[in-house]
Amino acid sequence: MSEKQPTDTQPSFVGGHPVLDFANTIAWRTDTTRRVDRVPGGATDWRRWAVMAGLLDPAPDHALPSTERELADLLDLRGALEAVLDAFADGTPPPAPAWETLRRAILRAREAAALPRALPLRWEPGARGLTDLRHALALRAEELLGGDGLSRVRRCAGPGCGWFFLDRTRGGTRRWCSSGDCGNRDRARRHYARTHHQA
Ligand SMILES: [Zn+2]
Repeated sequence: MSEKQPTDTQPSFVGGHPVLDFANTIAWRTDTTRRVDRVPGGATDWRRWAVMAGLLDPAPDHALPSTERELADLLDLRGALEAVLDAFADGTPPPAPAWETLRRAILRAREAAALPRALPLRWEPGARGLTDLRHALALRAEELLGGDGLSRVRRCAGPGCGWFFLDRTRGGTRRWCSSGDCGNRDRARRHYARTHHQA
């Protein structure tokens, strides 16, 4: 069982999609007192995350050096995706600044990516540096937010959790980022309420 404690430092991949896992690199997203970045260490940590997510080339000798600006742009995209996905989960229009950040990120990614002359049509970002990572995430975001997968995007019902995931259940009934985490806490909460009510 993996409990989502503030002391945990490992990023989680419960989202089922790299764009959702990217937003989920912040744990306890919707609880301002517990919110914590699981990839806090800059370019090296982000490279490691991206390799785990399958978005960058694992060979370290192929890595491009990263600038502060590239890191800032990557974190801007994460903030924009958080806002857009939260708005989607809440059924409200996405905030204009977040939308603009996302729109620009997608346009820049398309401009930079290769488009091999083959079908099905697919943009191919580079796989070596933080800018490649941002482009890859922007293109995957376009694909997720514009495709059939969007109807399966959910936000965990756990108080303060805020993690997103793709609900692949047949009936679309998944409520928790993880049944062993927020689902467990909910069961414990309900058990506590029940037993204390009876006492
Ligand atoms: Zn959760």
